[in-house]
Amino acid sequence: MSRAWNFSAGPAALPVTVLQRAQAELLEWDGAHASVMEVSHRGKAFMEMAARAEADLRELLAIPANYKVLFLQGGATQHFAQVPMNLCADGQRADYIVNGHWGEKAATEAAFYADARIAASSLADAYRSIPARATWELDPGAAFVHITTNETIHGVEMRDIPDVGEVPLVADMSSDILSQPLDVSKFGLIYAGAQKNIGPSGLVVMLVREDLLARHPRPLPKIFRYAEYAAADSMLNTPNTWGWYLAGLTFQWLKEQGGLVEMGRRNAAKAALLYAAIDGSGGYYSNPVEPSARSRMNVVFNLHDAALDPVFVAEGGKAGLLALKGHRALGGIRASLYNAVPIEGVQALCDFMTEFQRTHG
Ligand SMILES: *Cc1c(COP(=O)(O)O)cnc(C)c1O
Repeated sequence: MSRAWNFSAGPAALPVTVLQRAQAELLEWDGAHASVMEVSHRGKAFMEMAARAEADLRELLAIPANYKVLFLQGGATQHFAQVPMNLCADGQRADYIVNGHWGEKAATEAAFYADARIAASSLADAYRSIPARATWELDPGAAFVHITTNETIHGVEMRDIPDVGEVPLVADMSSDILSQPLDVSKFGLIYAGAQKNIGPSGLVVMLVREDLLARHPRPLPKIFRYAEYAAADSMLNTPNTWGWYLAGLTFQWLKEQGGLVEMGRRNAAKAALLYAAIDGSGGYYSNPVEPSARSRMNVVFNLHDAALDPVFVAEGGKAGLLALKGHRALGGIRASLYNAVPIEGVQALCDFMTEFQRTHG
């Protein structure tokens, strides 16, 4: 067996011990004489697992009691549309802060249900920064303000949670949730696709303040209403049982590692190591992002000669460093350093970079 260091942006690396535990329990889970994928989601064993997963997540993030935790499907992309569907009256304004590809997409999808406005954007800066808070043109009557705390493609992270007054703050945290401690009470709603920092794709975790669930801006089929999921403990219909189970194992793993304070410490150290390697290369490697907005989760960088990009990616693969190719929209290189990527993997990448520069300089 040869598992390589995996820098995939998503679906991304999962903790090895989580995969080993899932493997050990695959055929016979929790005394069920069947796998977790083959039992009723309404049975006692699954319901207990689901409750434990929620309790562990609540503990990790210190989620206040007036927030519901939902385990949903459809990927973050479905919720680009479903969030405004649930929170905005027809034509009501919703403000979007756009600092990358995903925020752009969220605003485009919201326009079917809301007067979705780009209240601030760093497009003119090619999404290499976060628009300064003082420039945001917010409407106090907006249904919500939407932010993307980490832009996975552009490698840009919003380090400070902005103060947007009384208007609920909604955040797509698909690629940085659980990467450090978070003050959930500053948000109205947080959602995240699982395949970056939580588990397999096909699962979405949402934290939503109860007063937002009471909004009823338009008649909706039950299957699209968050309040219905909350009332049914996320079991309105058959949930993604396998994804939920793996997410639960990841939450247990995070607790065993020392929780989000420890993950924050590790993630800061990993990112610092890689950015130092880039910055210390004398221009051989370069990162285009404004230093204060550099992502800890997705590090994008360029080689001094773009013709070397495919060589770097191919030789990296041979050296046991997977998925370093940059997103097709940007080119270059991207290394994603989610929770499951240990600092040893980042050190291996830095060593490879030094060696590559020496041999291809
Ligand atoms: C990956 C990602 C998405 C899209 O997730 P899907 O599950 O494919 O819909 C949305 N937002 C961010 C920030 C992401 O990283």
